[in-house]
Amino acid sequence: MEIKIQLTSNKKVKPDSSVLGFGKYFTDHMAMITWNAEKGWHNARIVPFENLSIHPASTVLHYGAEIFEGLKAYRRKDGGVQMFRPMENVKRLNRSAERLCLPTIDEDVAFELLTKFVEIEQEWTPSASGTSLYLRPFMFGNDEALGVHAVHNAEFVIIASPVGSYYKEGINPVKIMIENEDVRAVRGGTGYAKCGGNYAASTRAGKRAEDKGYSQVLWLDGVERKYIEEVGAMNVMFKINGKIVTPMLSGSILPGITRMSCIEVLKSKGFEVEERLLSVDELLDAMKTGALEEAFGCGTAAVISPIGELMYDGVKYPVSGGKIGEVTQMLYDTLTGIQWGTVEDKFGWIYKI
Ligand SMILES: *Cc1c(COP(=O)(O)O)cnc(C)c1O
Repeated sequence: MEIKIQLTSNKKVKPDSSVLGFGKYFTDHMAMITWNAEKGWHNARIVPFENLSIHPASTVLHYGAEIFEGLKAYRRKDGGVQMFRPMENVKRLNRSAERLCLPTIDEDVAFELLTKFVEIEQEWTPSASGTSLYLRPFMFGNDEALGVHAVHNAEFVIIASPVGSYYKEGINPVKIMIENEDVRAVRGGTGYAKCGGNYAASTRAGKRAEDKGYSQVLWLDGVERKYIEEVGAMNVMFKINGKIVTPMLSGSILPGITRMSCIEVLKSKGFEVEERLLSVDELLDAMKTGALEEAFGCGTAAVISPIGELMYDGVKYPVSGGKIGEVTQMLYDTLTGIQWGTVEDKFGWIYKI
């Protein structure tokens, strides 16, 4: 596939790594490819970063036809740049597209556009400890009419943002509130798709938790409010009586690449991992008897986020004595080590630019 490349003559000044934060600064270019029902995917291009111009009736603005991905490029000590399991993001993008009736894209075409884009923007990958170049591929339906049906026009775009270290003051356990009113997703819905709509549905509970001093909510299933699903926009894992337990992918849970990688690392180190239904009652029991040893969220942004307190119905339960558990720390060290290239990549997860 031919990718047209139009480089900017007006490069931005790169921000200092101390001010990066998350998703505030964007690189000089963006990658795009257009789809319509007649031509399929065409006009792959890398162009100067600029505002998009869309019709006020564009499908995405009215009916939420939007999916996205999130992954990072990391600066190694030797100066090179590498990515973590990028093909998994491409595959998930297509599973999300299929669910929302957006067009799927040839894996090799999407991969080539992504990696070519990172190659062009690689100088934007910061090198300070814990920093990275966050990549945000997204696709939206772009018909210029208000009729409700599968779209005939779509855009796939990739933007990039240098981001700061998630843990500026060291990796810190967070307080989580178990949510029993709002739900994020239901089986048969779009929970397994990475789509903007899931985020729109989950914002209210997240805000209420924040207002009460909690950093995120623990989601329960949408049918019975009984089984644990995810924590905020991360997957969740528990160490109960020496075993790792994580909710199984039931359809309403996002199949995280960090989750999958944690499971593979844990199994390679001899841990027993159970992917199954885990009820909030079982978790409360495990907290009361002390069987719950560790709890953590996992996702690309934070990698691993230890949970130090869970709150349910006004009752607070400390986890791991409010400290980071051993397995939690091991997973954090292993995954970040592979990502930044300081730990040997035994699994073949790294793609070098
Ligand atoms: C993206 C996401 C995750 C984590 O997926 P990773 O591939 O590990 O980054 C988990 N839950 C939700 C709801 C997400 O959107």
